[in-house]
Amino acid sequence: MSQAVEQGTLFVISAPSGAGKTSLVAEMLRSDSKLGVSVSHTTRAMRDGEQDGVNYHFVSRDEFEAMIARGDFLEHADVFGNYYGTSQVWVRETLATGRDVILEIDWQGAEQVCRLMPECVSIFIVPPSAETLRERLTGRGTDAPEVVERRLAEAVEECRHAVEFDYLVVNDDFAVALADLLAVTRSQRLRMPVQQERHGDLLAALSERS
Ligand code: 5GP
Repeated sequence: MSQAVEQGTLFVISAPSGAGKTSLVAEMLRSDSKLGVSVSHTTRAMRDGEQDGVNYHFVSRDEFEAMIARGDFLEHADVFGNYYGTSQVWVRETLATGRDVILEIDWQGAEQVCRLMPECVSIFIVPPSAETLRERLTGRGTDAPEVVERRLAEAVEECRHAVEFDYLVVNDDFAVALADLLAVTRSQRLRMPVQQERHGDLLAALSERS
């Protein structure tokens, strides 16, 4: 057996708000124990039902800026007026153990990560139509019209960057979108360099004449 632990794969997943990204990623984690998700730091206020350390690490702007200065982030961005960032140490250490890591981040973060770690695999999730996006973003009915308008404008801005990603998944039917995402993560583990590392002894044995 080969003793070397192959490095995990980094998956960067972005989507406009309303595409179902968070639910899809949660289901990916339940379906595949080799996947882990990075818990980002943010300066935005905690929403109902969220937990510190689970959904995000909620920190003040001062704390966040101190972390930037220390070089703690693999990437960070100002998204809709709040800071969001990915811990450099957690991602690198987790990948080194052979686990695959998902980053659920916006297009600005995706651009930074793909520049720093070109071997990463990026996936963009979209809703099936512009009408569906509008319905999903306005459907809650509890927000002021200017909040809804801003959310829609931000979703359009995010979607303009879809073509920069490696894969596109359309979330029309949740189960199909989930299967598509899992097909991408699984296919990365079947790539020859990864398989050579894992099955080096098998390939060697099969290549020998007895
Ligand atoms: P929300 O506040 O609705 O949870 O997230 C708002 C946006 O910030 C989403 O597009 C989400 O993907 C993005 N986001 C969450 N964490 C990070 C992060 O660590 N880095 C970056 N660049 N974006 C993030």
